[in-house]
Amino acid sequence: MRKEQNKSAKILKPRPFNVKKIREDFPILKQTINGKPLVYLDNAATSQKPQFVIDAMNHYYMEENSNIHRGVHYLSELATQSYEAARVKIQKHINAKHLEEVIFTRGTTEAINLVAHSFGRFQVKEGDEIIISAMEHHSNIVPWQLLRDEKGIVLRIIPINDRGELFIDKYEKMLNERTKIVSIVHVSNVLGTINPIKQMIEIAHKNGVPVLIDGAQGVPHMKIDVQDLDCDFYAFSGHKMYGPTGVGVYINQIRFDDAIHHEHNLLNYAQETLSSIKGLRIIGTAAQKSSVLSFVLKNIHPHDIGPILDDDGIALRTGHHCAQPVMKCFEVPATARASFAMYNIKEEVDALVKGIHRVIKVFS
Ligand SMILES: *Cc1c(COP(=O)(O)O)cnc(C)c1O
Repeated sequence: MRKEQNKSAKILKPRPFNVKKIREDFPILKQTINGKPLVYLDNAATSQKPQFVIDAMNHYYMEENSNIHRGVHYLSELATQSYEAARVKIQKHINAKHLEEVIFTRGTTEAINLVAHSFGRFQVKEGDEIIISAMEHHSNIVPWQLLRDEKGIVLRIIPINDRGELFIDKYEKMLNERTKIVSIVHVSNVLGTINPIKQMIEIAHKNGVPVLIDGAQGVPHMKIDVQDLDCDFYAFSGHKMYGPTGVGVYINQIRFDDAIHHEHNLLNYAQETLSSIKGLRIIGTAAQKSSVLSFVLKNIHPHDIGPILDDDGIALRTGHHCAQPVMKCFEVPATARASFAMYNIKEEVDALVKGIHRVIKVFS
């Protein structure tokens, strides 16, 4: 037993994360935009794909493409095998107990809709309640609003404080015998807040209420163990975790712990440097954060920030990020959002800072 532990401790010893080497695997990052190196900071919308994912997709269409689970011919068998092999890898990646628990959809939006309109629809009757939070993506609002309108149920919203953290005590008080589902985001795509979902799931289960987690920004940036979390549904998107739509396993090729650590350091560095810029306000300053940095600039509309940064080859997102209730909470029309992946580097944060100074100069 002790021998086993020593062995695994040795395997987990941290080692330097070779980000330069990781970058080489992503051909798109070699591009220049307007003569400047591409600085891709829109990973929360979709991540870039490494060469082996591109190769795997090409290989599939060149050698295997056919109807999965339908045909009785050779190619159909081959395609089905690849498809099912991906399911096993995902099962392992999120530590799902049974293979059948892994259900492929086109992404998070479709997954949440599926739950809302199958399981959800059968759980609720008029007057029942569903709990979501004030920091949800529209994907985790609209399906429940549709169900509300159809069934006459009530949507209860967990409020957030001015750092962008949920009020857990208020959430606890919201649960009652009418509550039928809790559906909350793991990591906010606007604020970067990591919600204490394990604790929140435990609270819901104490009240006999099942929980869906919107993990679109969770799975790409942290180790997920669905058995440990004890969630009832965990929805995520392959295209945000370096894979093609519906498939999220390639990520296994690298040391995921090291990648998480690297992203964490990068976020801290970005927060420190950006917060020293005069007139810049960071939106979302939760104690537990991941990979997302939203900001606004004094007297400059967020929509004016994007095009100027684009001149410098910097790709980030400006807008409400499909999360308008959050904008309302912080009383801003929109934010500029830099979101990081494992292949981003400090030099790109420096380029962003330089770009922001240029934006400020243009508007002063
Ligand atoms: C991107 C995102 C979604 C939607 O994911 P799709 O892949 O577009 O369906 C839902 N929730 C969050 C938090 C997201 O970041």
